[in-house]
Amino acid sequence: MGIETAEEGTEDLEAFRLRARAWLEDNMPRLQEGQTNHQLMALDEMGTRARELQRILFDGGFAGLCFPKEYGGHGLTRAHQIAFTQETAPYEMPVVFNIPTFSILAPTLLDFGTEEQKQAHVPKMISGEEMWVQFLSEPSGGSDLASLVTRATRDGDVFILNGSKIWSSGAFRCDYAMCLARTDWHAPKHRGLTMFMIKIHQPGIDVQQIKMSNGSNEFCQEFFDDVAIPIEDVIGEINDGWTVASRLLFHERDAVGGGSPYLSGSSGGRGDHGAGRSDLIELARASGRASDPRVIQLVAEARANDLVGAQLIGRITHALNSGALPGPGGSLHRLYAATNSERHADIALEIAGAGAAVWEDGDLAGLKGVEFLQRQSGSLGGGSNEMQRNIISERVLGMPREFVADKDRPFDEVLHNASPSRPT
Ligand SMILES: Cc1cc2nc3c(=O)[nH]c(=O)nc-3n(C[C@H](O)[C@H](O)[C@H](O)COP(=O)(O)OP(=O)(O)OC[C@H]3O[C@@H](n4cnc5c(N)ncnc54)[C@H](O)[C@@H]3O)c2cc1C
Repeated sequence: MGIETAEEGTEDLEAFRLRARAWLEDNMPRLQEGQTNHQLMALDEMGTRARELQRILFDGGFAGLCFPKEYGGHGLTRAHQIAFTQETAPYEMPVVFNIPTFSILAPTLLDFGTEEQKQAHVPKMISGEEMWVQFLSEPSGGSDLASLVTRATRDGDVFILNGSKIWSSGAFRCDYAMCLARTDWHAPKHRGLTMFMIKIHQPGIDVQQIKMSNGSNEFCQEFFDDVAIPIEDVIGEINDGWTVASRLLFHERDAVGGGSPYLSGSSGGRGDHGAGRSDLIELARASGRASDPRVIQLVAEARANDLVGAQLIGRITHALNSGALPGPGGSLHRLYAATNSERHADIALEIAGAGAAVWEDGDLAGLKGVEFLQRQSGSLGGGSNEMQRNIISERVLGMPREFVADKDRPFDEVLHNASPSRPT
């Protein structure tokens, strides 16, 4: 079913909105003044609260709105999801499930999973029982993903996984991962990869959290030591993992850009279709600068940027669904979202002034100072801004492709960190 097209008998949008509003009022806990889901989820280190909240949504019939009915969803349109997200602005919501579980990995599994894989996992994601993460990036680099060196060696009906992944968001609290590994070293780099699903908490997988400059230890590095993966847990075809990964990255650009139909609940961010509170107005008031003409201009600029972003998401999503834009067109709103997010962080810092550097506990200005330390994250997650620009130039505008010397060479003949890449 096309997510833009309502199934016959689909509830009228306004009736749905009113029903959602009444249900949220009766069932979901309200955020306190000044709180955002983004902040609350940072405190919910193990995702326990997020799982509880997701279960409430599930029991109330408001989880997985755009997912197909046969996998536990409701088969509704993206417009229903947007209406629901707008209505959730005053409430606590389990937004940590949004990326990557709902908006990247569930749709990838729907695209490439076997019927058994889909039935076993998608309903559990929607009910909040399973949280997923992606194991793609490696210490040797993430932009050239096809050059990864984590290896999975076939041994009868299992693959044996060895190597390391890094920058996996929240892996310590997740249950499953989609993991891309090299299964054929003699094939060129894009043609010797396989995508697997792996249970994270099992012998042979060591998950280590990484402490960030803003105090968060959300990022993880994983070490794999002879981890046995049953052949049934291959997603897609063996040695055709690049096809699965490319689709995953399409969903990731859509999610990070704010266009995914599977994003549920207001996080207080800028992909909220206008639902989020204006943190900058609250900041201007808290900093005593609400009447400062410069601050008024900055707040207006941020608001205009957000409105343009919301329009862009709608337009690009429509163009992708109608075929007017090729799949890589998702890089357009992904790039806009990242640059807007950076500009928003700059504006917040300017309004906060010295309060962003020296603050008392609980000061909003101090919070903006800490958030500024992660200013760049949106420009890296899901592929860096430079990579998005490459994609737009080459695959949307049809400009000549960047020369890639190792594209068609067997991977075990390619120099990697100054020595041929071979399994050790
Ligand atoms: C918030 C966040 C969440 C993330 N979550 C995950 C996750 O859950 N799972 C996961 O696997 N990874 C995750 N990542 C990692 C992310 O995918 C990588 O950081 C990203 O792909 C870039 O890889 P890298 O950091 O290794 O940089 P590199 O690939 O080493 O690149 C370094 C710099 O070189 C530039 N560059 C590289 N190649 C080119 C080129 N061909 N043309 C122009 N410029 C180029 C890049 O733009 C970048 O500025 C996350 C990152 C962030 C910031």
